[in-house]
Order: sequence, then structure tokens, then C-alpha cells
Amino acid sequence: MSAPIVRFAPSPTGRIHIGNARTALYNWLFAKHNGGQFVLRFDDTDKARSKEEYAVGISEDLAWLGIEPDRVEKQSARFADYQKVTDELKAKGLLYPCFETADELERRRSRQRSRGLPPIYDRSALKESDEERSELEAQGRKPHWRFLLPNYSGDVSNIERTEVHWDDVFRGEQTVDLGSMSDPVLIREDGSWLYTLPSIIDDEAFGITHVIRGADHITNTGAQIAIFNALGYTPPAFGHHNLLTGSEGEGLSKRLGSLSLQSLREDGFEAMAVSSLASLIGTSDPVEAIADIADLASRFDPLKVSKSPARFDVAELEGLNSKLIHDMPYEVIADRVSIPEGVDGEQFWNATKGNLSKVTELGQWNDVVAGEITPLIDAEDRDMITAAANSLPAEPWDETSWKAWTTAVKADTGRKGKSLFMPLRKAITGSASGPDLSKLLPLIGRKTVLARLA
Ligand code: GLU
Repeated sequence: MSAPIVRFAPSPTGRIHIGNARTALYNWLFAKHNGGQFVLRFDDTDKARSKEEYAVGISEDLAWLGIEPDRVEKQSARFADYQKVTDELKAKGLLYPCFETADELERRRSRQRSRGLPPIYDRSALKESDEERSELEAQGRKPHWRFLLPNYSGDVSNIERTEVHWDDVFRGEQTVDLGSMSDPVLIREDGSWLYTLPSIIDDEAFGITHVIRGADHITNTGAQIAIFNALGYTPPAFGHHNLLTGSEGEGLSKRLGSLSLQSLREDGFEAMAVSSLASLIGTSDPVEAIADIADLASRFDPLKVSKSPARFDVAELEGLNSKLIHDMPYEVIADRVSIPEGVDGEQFWNATKGNLSKVTELGQWNDVVAGEITPLIDAEDRDMITAAANSLPAEPWDETSWKAWTTAVKADTGRKGKSLFMPLRKAITGSASGPDLSKLLPLIGRKTVLARLA
């Protein structure tokens, strides 16, 4: 394949969630796998709902995932181009004004349904005369504009089956019947463009070779290919990946808050845990924690992605996150964590990482090693703890010191197993569970240990 150019095209009307991240990642992984380029396009034609802060936030979310666009574009800066093409379509009679209100259209559809007819737009606006249109405008009505689909022969009301085919990058051969659809609205009553036409103009202008997006766009693709053709553009290849649902099978947008990338990041999840899960669930590859996005890109194959929706489960994300951290070398994390004064960072990280499911939990062990904790000493263990304080070996300490010490305490007190180790752990760390004490002890140091046993 020659180098592809893909685009991720969010509307900056809110932050992106894990399902949008899947689309962004699939575009990115496809581009990287094939030595191509990635365009970030903000679909901000809806001026009232689009906000700059969301565009900035989405760029941050992508950067966090490791996605670095080769080019960033905003549709709001390209209205002159859209206007030119709009005029061209109007002049060709392919874009026509319709004055029906939403209510009128709904009533018409329910009549069609009750007569057993498909509820598609009957093109009655095309039968209106110029006088009728002027009259409607004089009443203050504003038209919306529809694209005339090439699904008729002779008369426009003689709609017939008209198949559009494409070889979907994710799903293989696809067929859509233009004869079963309404002419799509391209311009709203307030004169603003829906995303469809600007998207097509941009795909052409930016040389997009592959449109990769969610399966919710499959039916749109038929009409979009027709518009590409009407404009004399060569349609790009299309790929529609399966959608993610929440763990109950519900659509993700309902849980946008908790599953936004922003909140996952704030909850302390690793970007690569999110990327691994977002790209591997619902595929024939095992869901595993991949530490490097280049690895995800090299194994990426759209044909491995299942055709049915995939369930996203935050519990699975937690498992992947722990796994990533447990395998993470210190140099990867060094500039993100704070290390207790005077302690070797690598030693501290290697001692504690096995007990972390999120990097943010490291603070607790920071306190254990060099801060303030409350030792837990039960009354029945008091004598044993005092005896242990008396047999604490002299420094320097290393990973063998714990064994040497507990062997001595065992001999002095007759305690063994859990009744030996647990009281020591609780006194030294203030907690009943945690990292291996042979690793932790040398980091805490004799002076602090003695103080906690006192
Ligand atoms: N802004 C559109 C959306 O988010 C883009 C769809 C597309 O990728 O063509 O649904």
C-alpha cells in the first residue's frame, strides 16, 4: 500500500471517551503500521456547541495516548471552500431547498409507516414552484437543503434500488441501497452545514486515502460515496470498526463522564493500559497490557477486529494497569514519581511496584520509607516487638538483613510464620499488607525501624 493518509474527526462539543479513543487509535495504528500520516480534524461547524477548550482538551487527550498528528485542521476556518462547493451543487440542482418543519416530516413518516411504506422523504419540495418557495420565505420560513441521491430513473419520484458497494477495510464487501434512504440534509435551517459535506470536501482537500470510523457511520457511507462521485472526487477507502459499549451493553455516551479520557487519566490509569484495552477488546488478539504503542501498531490488523460490538469493562482496565506497572522499568517512570529523600529511586520502585495497581498509590510507600506512619502494635504483640527491637542487626543493611533479623527474633520469642511476620510488618509499615519486607527494610533504615518498634 502506498503511504495512507487518515484522519480522526471529533466534534469539539465535549471531551472524548474511550470509544472515541478506539477510533483515534485505529486511525493512528493504521497510519503507523503502513508508514502513513494522521490528520486531526475538528468538526466544529456547529458554532453554538463547539468550544475551543474542548479542542484543546481533545488534543491533550490524544497527546497523552501518544498520538501526534501530522496536521491539525478546523472546519470553522474553511467555510469559504464549503460555500464554493455548496454553490456548485445548488447550480447543478443536486442540492435543493426544503421548507417542511420537523413536525410535518414526522407526520408524513407516520402516515407512510401506517400504509406499510418505507418512511423515506418523498421529495415533495422538488415539486414546489419558485413562487411557492418565495411565499414560504416571505412567511419567515427558512429552508434546509437536501442532496438529491442518484437513486431514481427518469422522474425523481421514481425511486429504485440503487446499490453502492465498497470493500470495507474492517468488514470486507459492503452494500448499501440508496433507494431505501431519504435524501440527506446537508445544510440546516440556520444555514449551518451538517458534518457530511464539509467532511467530504476536506477528505478530498487533505488527500485522505482511508476513512476509518465507527460502525454507526456505515449507512452514511453510501450517500457519502454518492456525493464524492457527484463532485467528481474519487472516494477514499472506508473502514468501519465495531463500537464499544459499557459493561451492561449500554452506549458509551451515557457514561461519558466516567469513561472520558480525562477522567481515566485523572483516576491514575496509564495511557498504555487505556490504549491496549481500547484497541484490543473485540478483536481476535488476546487483551493484554502492551507497554509500547509501536508494538500495538506493528500487530494491528483491521481484519482481526470483530464485527459485533465489544464490551468495555473498567475492571479489565484495572488488571491491565497493574500488569503494566508490575513490568515497568524504573527509567520509564522516573520523571513521573517522587522518590523519598536519600533513597535510590530504582531500588524504591523495584521494591514497591509489585504492590501498586496505579502509580498514584506510590505515595503511601513513600511515607512508609521516609515519612510519618502510625505503627500498628496489638497488645499481645508488645513483648515480642520489644524483643525484636533488641535484636535488630547493625547497619549496613541489604536484602538479607530481614531474614537474619527474623531468624533471631524467632529464636528469641518462639514465634514463627504469620505470628512472627505480621506483627513486624504492621509495626514497621502501619499496614497488614505491602511489598516484600526484605526489600523495604534497607530503604527504611535502622533508625526509623527502631522508632516504630518503640
Ligand atoms: N465528526 C464526525 C463524527 O464524530 C466524523 C465522522 C467521520 O469520521 O466521518 O461522527
